[in-house]
Amino acid sequence: MDFNIAVIPGDGIGPEIIREARKVLDAVGAKYGHSFSYTEVLMGGVSIDATGVPLTDEALQTAKNSDSVLLGAVGGDVGKTSWYDLAPNLRPEAGLLAIRKGLNLFANIRPAILFNELKSACPLREDIIGDGFDFVVMRELTGGLYFGDRCTREVDGLRTATDTLVYNENEIARIARKAFEIARKRRKKVCSVDKANVLDSSRLWRQVTKEVAEEYPDVELTDMLVDNCAMQIVKDPRQFDVILTENMFGDILSDEASMVTGSIGMLASASLGESKLGLYEPSHGSAPDIAGQNKANPIATILSAAMMLRYSFELDKEADIVEAAVKEVLKKGYRTIDIMSPDKSLVGCDRMGDLIADEI
Ligand code: NAD
Repeated sequence: MDFNIAVIPGDGIGPEIIREARKVLDAVGAKYGHSFSYTEVLMGGVSIDATGVPLTDEALQTAKNSDSVLLGAVGGDVGKTSWYDLAPNLRPEAGLLAIRKGLNLFANIRPAILFNELKSACPLREDIIGDGFDFVVMRELTGGLYFGDRCTREVDGLRTATDTLVYNENEIARIARKAFEIARKRRKKVCSVDKANVLDSSRLWRQVTKEVAEEYPDVELTDMLVDNCAMQIVKDPRQFDVILTENMFGDILSDEASMVTGSIGMLASASLGESKLGLYEPSHGSAPDIAGQNKANPIATILSAAMMLRYSFELDKEADIVEAAVKEVLKKGYRTIDIMSPDKSLVGCDRMGDLIADEI
């Protein structure tokens, strides 16, 4: 089959990790007779430098016309680049918000899997880890605090800032359905996370999620307050299957989930909407501190490409092969610096990509 992928290398380590993910996709294509063609799209700081804005309408249109989008990362060192002297809607990260909104991607899925081979990198105690954990954080992406009206003005002589957190019932119901559908393919448990003891938006979230749950009687729904969830992820991560939550809570909890798996360089993510087109990207940022040094771990991006094979192209077998290749390379003892431990072989970004592609 033929697939047209819009690739957005972005800034910092973005181009390095995207190069390795393409290598792996090409190995999959060669083995299974698929053809992946790539159209490069500018976004983030590189787009600001070239066009003055973080995402042009043409770039967004190219992404919309593709079968799926693979993104590296955008952004630079705040304080060190002039990108952050610009208005917030013209900064690199505004490109991210614009593409998610433009593609109508409302559900972000971040798997938090503790790979057996990387147990020693997990900061949690062995009795907490047990035989490992595997859960996903599903975060609402296009509503909530990051998209509500905001302003800073003077009130009674004091500089006063206001952000608004808005959700309507349709926005909650559509992501709840995605969570229940994903849970059906897993261990059939959804934990909906909110702050219903304080926020009206959370009370509506809880109510609508319960209504949607009636359509999925085979899936168990529980509710948890976000502060408790932050504790439970480090106290007993094995209890979770699918964590469903709104935009800002999900932003924070998914980063916490990243860290309990050991390394941010291992964590993939998918952003989905109603159609098959998705945006696949590592959970980490552009890591300007190691950019251009061949030190980046490309595995999160490679596993994101595997999610693209599974969710957008319905190539489950090919996705399984990529995930197995990653595990095999780790089992053989190869590590990038972020996951390095004694007695293992240190490799750079490009060699890690080669090893995984060779394994396929
Ligand atoms: P970061 O994730 O880029 O880096 C945090 C730390 O993790 C750094 O020490 C970095 O070297 C390390 N790291 C990250 N990815 C790695 C990898 N693949 N291999 C090895 N080490 C890795 O977060 P940050 O430093 O807070 O942000 C840097 C820039 O990235 C900022 O401009 C930020 O706005 C942007 N950002 C972009 C995205 C995105 O594009 N989706 C997400 C988060 C942050």
